[in-house]
Amino acid sequence: MKLRTILLFGSPGAGKGTQGNILGSIPTYLHVSSGDLFRNLRVQNPLGQTFLDYAGKGQLVPDEPTIKLWHDDIENRIHNGIFNPETDTLLLDGLPRNAAQAQLLDDTLNVVGVLNLFCKDLDIMVERLQARALRENRLDDANLDTIRNRLEVYEAETRPVLEHYGDDLVHTIDSTQTPVRVLRDVLAVLANLET
Ligand code: ADP
Repeated sequence: MKLRTILLFGSPGAGKGTQGNILGSIPTYLHVSSGDLFRNLRVQNPLGQTFLDYAGKGQLVPDEPTIKLWHDDIENRIHNGIFNPETDTLLLDGLPRNAAQAQLLDDTLNVVGVLNLFCKDLDIMVERLQARALRENRLDDANLDTIRNRLEVYEAETRPVLEHYGDDLVHTIDSTQTPVRVLRDVLAVLANLET
């Protein structure tokens, strides 16, 4: 059975994590962030080191281990009763991040909507990422070159994923608004998708 899924989509700093954390507290919605899955790996896990190497340069971790990490995690959550594929909706944040990942996930996900948190002003994203580097001690947000690299990877590899899902599924929301206003717009889309 394919998993009913809504993708949280947008560039680094667009606010996917902020919205995902709030929305994940709604009953029947589960927020899963690929970045969090990587950051929660134990130090003994070799993928943890791979993650640090790639993320530290602002690059994507290779596709196969990324998809496997996510797959093992969701299987676990289904097994433990945290996610019920019959009744629940997955809010997937940070995945898929390129066309190859989107294809690898087609067999598993029933994507019913894509929430595209869109910001046309790059400077705002850079400011947010720099503020987060201090607050959350994030290596990949710490220097300007890495931030620029991450934004370039987003433009070149991640943004084209929107075409994979098509205009009918994509809902674009202005991510330069305050978190409350972004949430209001996101909830309007989610409410429509429920009917
Ligand atoms: P942000 O929310 O700023 O986009 P994330 O926490 O989602 O950052 O991701 C941090 C880093 O984790 C990425 O820069 C990348 O190195 C790695 N990563 C996360 N998701 C994926 C993915 N789907 N494929 C490859 N690498 C990923």
